[in-house]
Amino acid sequence: MTDTILNTLIIGSGPAGYTAAIYACRAQLEPVLITGSEVGGQLTTTPEIENWPSRKDNPDGFSLMFEMGEHAKALGTKIVNDEVVKVNFKDKIKEITTKTGTVYKTKTVIICTGAKAKYLGLESESIYKGHGVSACATCDGFFFRNKTVAVVGGGSAAFVEALYLANLCQKVYLIHRRDSFRAEKVLVEKLKNHPKVEMVLNATVKEVLGDGNVVSGLKLNTQDGDKEIAVNGMFVAIGHEPATAIFKDELELLNDGTIKIGFGTATSTSVKGVFAAGDCADNVYRQAITSAGMGCSAALDAERYLMD
Ligand code: FAD
Ligand code: NAP
Repeated sequence: MTDTILNTLIIGSGPAGYTAAIYACRAQLEPVLITGSEVGGQLTTTPEIENWPSRKDNPDGFSLMFEMGEHAKALGTKIVNDEVVKVNFKDKIKEITTKTGTVYKTKTVIICTGAKAKYLGLESESIYKGHGVSACATCDGFFFRNKTVAVVGGGSAAFVEALYLANLCQKVYLIHRRDSFRAEKVLVEKLKNHPKVEMVLNATVKEVLGDGNVVSGLKLNTQDGDKEIAVNGMFVAIGHEPATAIFKDELELLNDGTIKIGFGTATSTSVKGVFAAGDCADNVYRQAITSAGMGCSAALDAERYLMD
C-alpha cells in the first residue's frame, strides 16, 4: 500500500488515457497512469491512420501512440507498466490494486480501459487462437505472407485489416454476414477494387478446419448452403467489447458493459470522483479522436471535482 494519496489516477494508455494525463498535468494534478497490458491501446495494432487531424502523413498507430505517451510523460505523468485487477470505490478515497500487488489511494479515478477484440465463439476457433486465428493483422499478418487468409467482419476494422493483408498475402477473402457494410465508404471502394480480394457475403463461419495445429480452411454457411474455402489463417475483426469487468460491482454499466456516464458532468460515472472516457464509456462513436476528446473532458471534470 502506498501512503501517498494521489489527486488523480488514470487507468489505460490509449488516446483517452494519455490525453487525460496531458490535461491533468497541466492542471497540476500530478497524475499516475497505469498502462495495462496493451501499452498505447487498440490503435497500436493498425498500420495506418488517415483521420488524425494534422497528420496527413498517415502515421502507423504504434508511432502515433508512442508520441502521445511521450507527450504525457514530458509534462510530468508518472507512467506505470502494470494492470489494475481490483478497485474499491466505496469511500471518498478510492483504492486501486494492481497485478503486481501495489495498492494506490486516490481522490479521483479516470477510467480509460477501452475495449478488447471479440471472437466468434466457435470451439474450433479457440483451438487455433495464436496459431492461425488472430484478431490483429499488424501483429500477425507477417506470418501469412504469400499465403491465403480470410478476414471476418464488415466494419472499418475488417476493411483496414483486409487491405493490410492484401499487401502481404497471395489472396484475401472478406467474409461478412450481410451484403452491406458498416465500414467507411472510402475503405469499401478500395477493397472492392483490389485484385487480390474476394468478398464472400451473406456468409458466416461455421468451423475452422485443420489438423489441430495448422489451419487449412473454413467451413462457411452461405445462402447456397455449406461451402469450404482453403485458407492458412483467419483474422477476426467483428468489433470489440468494453474492458469493464473489474468495475461491474462498483459502477453502473449499460447492458453491453459500457460504463454509464453523464451523472452531473459529461464523464461522471455513478460514483462521485470516478470519471470514464473513451471506448469503455462510448458505444456510439469509438474513434481515436473522440476518445481523446473524452479524456480531455474527464481530466477537466476531475479538476473541477477536486476544487469543490
Ligand atoms: P484503447 O485504445 O482501447 O486503450 C485502452 C487502454 O486501457 C489500453 O492501454 C489497455 O492496456 C488499458 N487497460 C485495459 N484494461 C486495463 C486494466 N485492467 N488496467 C490497466 N489498464 C487497462 N480509430 C480512429 O479514429 N482511426 C483509425 O484509423 C482507427 N483504426 C483502428 C484500427 C483497428 C484495427 C482498431 C481495432 C481500432 C481502430 N480505431 C480507429 C478505433 C480506435 O483505436 C479506438 O477508438 C481508440 O483506441 C479507443 O481509445 P481508448 O483510449 O478509449 O481505449
Ligand atoms: P463495428 O463497426 O462494430 O463492425 C463490426 C462488424 O462485425 C460488423 O460488420 C458486424 O456485422 C460484424 N459482426 C459482429 N459480430 C459478428 C459475429 N458474431 N459474426 C459475424 N460478424 C459479426 O466494429 P469495428 O470494425 O471494429 O470498428 C469499431 C470502431 O472503430 C468503429 O467506430 C469504427 O468506425 C472505428 N474504426 C475506424 C477506422 C477508421 O476510421 N479508419 C478503422 C477501424 C475502426 P453487422 O454489420 O451485420 O452488425
